[in-house]
Amino acid sequence: MADYPTLLAPLDLGFTTLKNRVLMGSMHTGLEETGDWNRVAEFYAERARGQVALIVTGGIAPNFEGGVLPGAAGMMTQQDIDNHAIVTQRVHQAGGKIAMQILHAGRYAYNPKCVGPSPVKSPISPFPPAELDEDGIEKQIADIAEAARKAKEAGYDGVEIMGSEGYFLNQFLVTHTNKRTDQWGGSYENRMRLPIEVVRRTRAAVGEDFIIIYRLSMIDLVPNGSTHAEVVQLAQEVEKAGATIINTGIGWHEARIPTIATSVPRAAFAWVTQKLMGKVGIPVITSNRINTPDVAENVLATGCADMVSMARPMLADADFVAKAMAGHGDQIAPCIACNQACLDHTFGGKLTSCLVNPQACHETELLITPTDAPKSIAIVGAGPAGLSVALTAAKRGHSVTLFDKVDDIGGQLNIAKQVPGKEEFWGLVDWYRTMVAELGVKTELGRVVTADDLTGFDEVVIATGVIPRDPGIAGQDAANVLSYIDVLRDKAPVGKKVAVIGAGGIGFDVSEFLVHEGTSPTEDLPAWMKEWGVSDPETNRAGLAPEGPQPEAPARQVTLIQRKAEKHGKRLGKTTGWIHRAALKMKDVNFVGGVNYERIQPDGLMVSFGEARENPTLIEADTIVMCAGQLPERTLADALIAQGITPHVIGGADVAAELDAKRAINQGTRLAAAL
Ligand code: FAD
Ligand code: NAP
Ligand code: SF4
Repeated sequence: MADYPTLLAPLDLGFTTLKNRVLMGSMHTGLEETGDWNRVAEFYAERARGQVALIVTGGIAPNFEGGVLPGAAGMMTQQDIDNHAIVTQRVHQAGGKIAMQILHAGRYAYNPKCVGPSPVKSPISPFPPAELDEDGIEKQIADIAEAARKAKEAGYDGVEIMGSEGYFLNQFLVTHTNKRTDQWGGSYENRMRLPIEVVRRTRAAVGEDFIIIYRLSMIDLVPNGSTHAEVVQLAQEVEKAGATIINTGIGWHEARIPTIATSVPRAAFAWVTQKLMGKVGIPVITSNRINTPDVAENVLATGCADMVSMARPMLADADFVAKAMAGHGDQIAPCIACNQACLDHTFGGKLTSCLVNPQACHETELLITPTDAPKSIAIVGAGPAGLSVALTAAKRGHSVTLFDKVDDIGGQLNIAKQVPGKEEFWGLVDWYRTMVAELGVKTELGRVVTADDLTGFDEVVIATGVIPRDPGIAGQDAANVLSYIDVLRDKAPVGKKVAVIGAGGIGFDVSEFLVHEGTSPTEDLPAWMKEWGVSDPETNRAGLAPEGPQPEAPARQVTLIQRKAEKHGKRLGKTTGWIHRAALKMKDVNFVGGVNYERIQPDGLMVSFGEARENPTLIEADTIVMCAGQLPERTLADALIAQGITPHVIGGADVAAELDAKRAINQGTRLAAAL
């Protein structure tokens, strides 16, 4: 308790008390849509057992037209009430509290029947919304209030009304999406009438002793978004209308400024919430990129908010709060804000999970239980694949020895963490180090393992990772050619003009590394805000700097090259690819595609285009960096197989194509769960 006195202090709401200051923020996991309500209940109950004070569910539609897409989970029928009651009972049995988020998507719905204040199509949906008439607006208000009443009947402790991120209620607030001339449009008083009416009618529907959280967009980050004065006015009216708590929303979904990606500084928007402190009488929650108890404690202790919302960190570690309470903050598996297994899955129509914790949303399917037949297990390779086997097997009671040829654990994560914007990988490796010690995994580092070292173990796991692919380009042995390992790990000197061969994840990362110098903007909030054009919403409407993004000049002139003719970065993460592209474009990185590599020469790289190898072109460069993909490192696996030993081969050593840490960790964890 002494470590985090503010974070762990209770919050008295009058009619009920929250046991600490941690809200599990709403996340769409896709679990509700599986129809397996036992699975939904277990997911939330696990977090309740982990001592989070108040859970908010994923967005639940109040009616068909408001769902994020046809078939989205809703609160409309008796069957919905019965299903949700399974969740609330399980959470209450676990000692937790849970609120249902009511999400009306408005023009963001991927639904030809979507509705909005005005027929203004959103850039993120193909369907223009139908303009609501008076009756239509009344129906939406009534449906939201009724969904809240049903939520109470299902046993929820409260509801969160989603009023931010550019969804339905937010769409009424700003002139960009609200072109109405009736009592719901025009002046700000008219534009905010709908959110206020929704809160008032919801309060009337649920009675007094029921939590109503209003999620309010405090910095829209879109042109013509709300001013700070409007935000304060709305918050005060929302309080008067009956809200219990105000939660922070940051940026509309269509904003072109990253708000939660890993390159966003930790707690980057807490100062925005702080502007509302003292202006309303109800508790205020802050949000976005808060992922450790230390960051959360600091945000609260410095008066930025009364409570913190953490969503993805609760996927990474269901026991986040319990570990903080026990003084084991260093044992909390960190959310690295990669979006790879959560938001990228959601937007790819897949069930959510977590890169660092494959059990997230798979609580009833991936069981990690104590073994009744302990074995001795050798694992070669202390990258994420090997580490996942080691931790899971040790947790189950096996005796584990982890070997690596280098003298530290982490594998390629130690290369990834060198990239500006990927600093969270430092914390992930540190966490693995803590847990290796905590779980008693024996380590043998700094030695290349051969087949002879592996006799006498019950099980052998080969997780030796990858080797860089040799692209076989004429002239590649010259001194001006480096690999991504030379650049990122060994910090080889690189010239001012650089050609990067290969525009996969590593080519993008190397380019990012080469165009920056000095402190990474992810570690310097004012620099990051300047780079992306974020400013004080009190000075500039919606928090957009009038001069736009002002990045530092690039440290080098970089050309990023691929053979494919497709858009650069097309295969990067669904929710983060645009950020990587925009970041490099801001640094004037030249994207060249559809090339044939002809040869490397002292003044650069000769390429040609098309099947006929036309249009020979010299890409001038002092240094050429190879990022041409990777192949499995199977030397040891093959040697063992030749000796008649069948090892388990995982991670990059198994399949290098399209490998990432998510697959490596998932495969390692699942193997160890079955050993
Ligand atoms: P590795 O991490 O390669 O680990 C293999 C280990 O085996 C190494 O430590 C090696 O020293 C050891 N080893 C090899 N041979 C022997 C031997 N004979 N004896 C003893 N030890 C041996 N993935 C993501 O998901 N998200 C990202 O954002 C991301 N960014 C990246 C950025 C960069 C710059 C790089 C290089 C990679 C990135 N990756 C990312 C990829 C991710 O790091 C890999 O997919 C992952 O590390 C593969 O895990 P692994 O355990 O299979 O192999
Ligand atoms: P990659 O994504 O497979 O990209 C390899 C690049 O090399 C491609 O651009 C490919 O494009 C090119 N290439 C392939 N064969 C080539 C050849 N013979 N000659 C020349 N060029 C060739 O692999 P990576 O960039 O090495 O990344 C490795 C893994 O780490 C990836 O699977 C990735 O998911 C993961 N990673 C993830 C992230 C992340 O942010 N999520 C970041 C970094 C790495 P062309 O074939 O068009 O030339
Ligand atoms: Fe965090 Fe990445 Fe896990 Fe999502 S997948 S919860 S961003 S670590």
